[in-house]
Amino acid sequence: MHPKINHLIQLQELSLIRAEQKAHRHGHRLDELDASVADLTAQLTPDIQSLVVRMQKRDSIIIVPMVNGICTACGMRLPTSHVQQVKVSDQLQVCPVCTRLLYFQDGLPLNLGKAPRRSEPRKLGIAKFSASTLMIPRLAATTRDDAVRELALKMQEAGFVDDAGKLVEASLRREAIVSTALDHGLAFPHVRGVEGGGLTFGLGISSKGIKFDDQEKSLTKIVFFIVIPTAASAFYLKLLAGLAATFSEAEARKALMTEDSPEKLWKALVKLTKKTIP
Ligand SMILES: [Zn+2]
Repeated sequence: MHPKINHLIQLQELSLIRAEQKAHRHGHRLDELDASVADLTAQLTPDIQSLVVRMQKRDSIIIVPMVNGICTACGMRLPTSHVQQVKVSDQLQVCPVCTRLLYFQDGLPLNLGKAPRRSEPRKLGIAKFSASTLMIPRLAATTRDDAVRELALKMQEAGFVDDAGKLVEASLRREAIVSTALDHGLAFPHVRGVEGGGLTFGLGISSKGIKFDDQEKSLTKIVFFIVIPTAASAFYLKLLAGLAATFSEAEARKALMTEDSPEKLWKALVKLTKKTIP
């Protein structure tokens, strides 16, 4: 593996977090993130630096994991010799189709969500991303870490991901960079780089509220825990925008808070997001 791979992954993650902050947190800690991104970029050798800057102009996703010999950005199945190169070479490897940088990492948490069979009706709206089995109308958790754990475990139990423990670790590392809590008691803890299926989320409700962000006075009551394939990062911002818009309305939040079974919570979510998540 090229010695700068982890550095590049970190740089991409920070750039994506900066885009999230710009869209939803009104510049909260943006200067800090700008400085970190500039710092990480400056630490690259000149040739990698110019490559990265060139790639970033085209798309925010510059480096993606290879899973089962497939580029997770464009779906290209790589020739066996290339797969081996990505695994062992100390040179940077690119996908021959989408030209993004590729890396291989053993033991990444995976999304086990199965692609729908042809005979099944195509899912629409929010049903593309979640299910009634991923709803927790009454979170037992009273802390941020426990809420993330409870939702990750639910996702594993329902057969959507293979390793809740790894997801919790990755999600809390992400929270440590900058909290994913937004206004109106919403939070969107998430893990990027969960490949193998589509973007998937679980929803947990806490009527008492949970302290998600040390800087904020308000408590979080509605928690969306989201696993995101790297290539869906831009799309994730759209989903986030739709959910944040829906639940900026007090009526919509109230409708979620009052449901007491996973099925009813799911039904309410589907109904409330009909217009915002097409
Ligand atoms: Zn590709």
